[in-house]
Amino acid sequence: MVKNKEQDDMSKDFLKWLEEDPFGLNEDMKIIIFKCMDCGKEDEVPEYVVEEFHFDLKENEEVEVVCPFCNGTMRRARNIPSE
Ligand SMILES: [Zn+2]
Repeated sequence: MVKNKEQDDMSKDFLKWLEEDPFGLNEDMKIIIFKCMDCGKEDEVPEYVVEEFHFDLKENEEVEVVCPFCNGTMRRARNIPSE
């Protein structure tokens, strides 16, 4: 069997291209922890999702998400040392 050299080079290039992370997929996605005020469970929400929620809020309003465990209200956990 003869290996197609050109094809091989191409896929190598492609892999290299992927390693360079053209879409920024490997960038650390910031995760924000939300805690349910009703059942106390925690859920991780990607920051960009939170930002989308923020879009509709007034300055002093907090992002709230629906708890996937009990349908209660989740708010950003405060005990995370960030910002
Ligand atoms: Zn809950």
